[in-house]
Amino acid sequence: MNAQPQSQQSAWTVSRLLTWTMEHLDQRDVDEPRLAAEVLLAHAMKCRRIDLYVKFESVPEKDEMDQFRGWVKRAAGHEPIAYLVGEKEFFSLAFHVSSDVLIPRPETESLVELVIDHCTNQAIDAPKLLDVGTGSGCITVALLTQMPKALAVASDISPEALAIAQQNATRHKVDDRTTFVEADGLDLPKSIVPDEGFDVIVSNPPYVSADEFQTLDSCVKDYEPRQALTDENDGLSHYTRLANDAPSMMAKGGWLVVEIGDGQREAVTEAILGTDLWTHQKTVRDQVGGVERVLAFELAKG
Ligand code: GLN
Repeated sequence: MNAQPQSQQSAWTVSRLLTWTMEHLDQRDVDEPRLAAEVLLAHAMKCRRIDLYVKFESVPEKDEMDQFRGWVKRAAGHEPIAYLVGEKEFFSLAFHVSSDVLIPRPETESLVELVIDHCTNQAIDAPKLLDVGTGSGCITVALLTQMPKALAVASDISPEALAIAQQNATRHKVDDRTTFVEADGLDLPKSIVPDEGFDVIVSNPPYVSADEFQTLDSCVKDYEPRQALTDENDGLSHYTRLANDAPSMMAKGGWLVVEIGDGQREAVTEAILGTDLWTHQKTVRDQVGGVERVLAFELAKG
């Protein structure tokens, strides 16, 4: 016989809340509804996701429950979970995010890995990096935490984004190795370009074309910063700019490493190689959808 009193059985325990919320979010077509439910509840209860599993039979406090219910309602309307809780994990690090910055995507971790591999293979112990359009700062911060002697310049056209990138660099203790600069593309003050040039320039530029922007999911299109997503053109304009402007500030044999959209490999390669300044070195598929996602080019020698 079940020894539990009836009221306990029907109380809103962590376990029941997660099951109910997952089903609710699933019915509303929210991606990864179980994960979303766990992230929201863990943040409402100020614990880690994994801690929910030892609290399965606990009942959250009233203020925690109120916070959670409010978030679930907004999540059901396709507001991104990361903006609700103000945080997103990237490369196993927690990043502060707001609607001023693109939410870090797992696909972008492939770019970070490629740069680390390159610096390791070439024995570039203290690389000088430039991250164009840093947004939340996720690429720069992840790279600097992995390469303790690396230095970085992180630029963005948005001062609000730079403030968030700065917070993330401070949070992960790499702010003393990062220079933040408000700039459009590679229009940087000469004083911050190292004399010997950057070893690696990275960018995850707004690569969604104006037409494709209209087709994005509402959770992206209606909430994430438009200028971080689209160039209001064919999605390729930033690659051409990077290919033309980067050589003057790069070390010999420097690498340009860019994230690209699904299906853009050929067009981006053509845009970059069309400048006659680069050679293609690598194409990497992301581990999320197996899509060609990152391209690396080397500055032609001579
Ligand atoms: N990966 C993002 C998306 O699919 C776009 C990111 C970008 O434009 N750099 O919505």
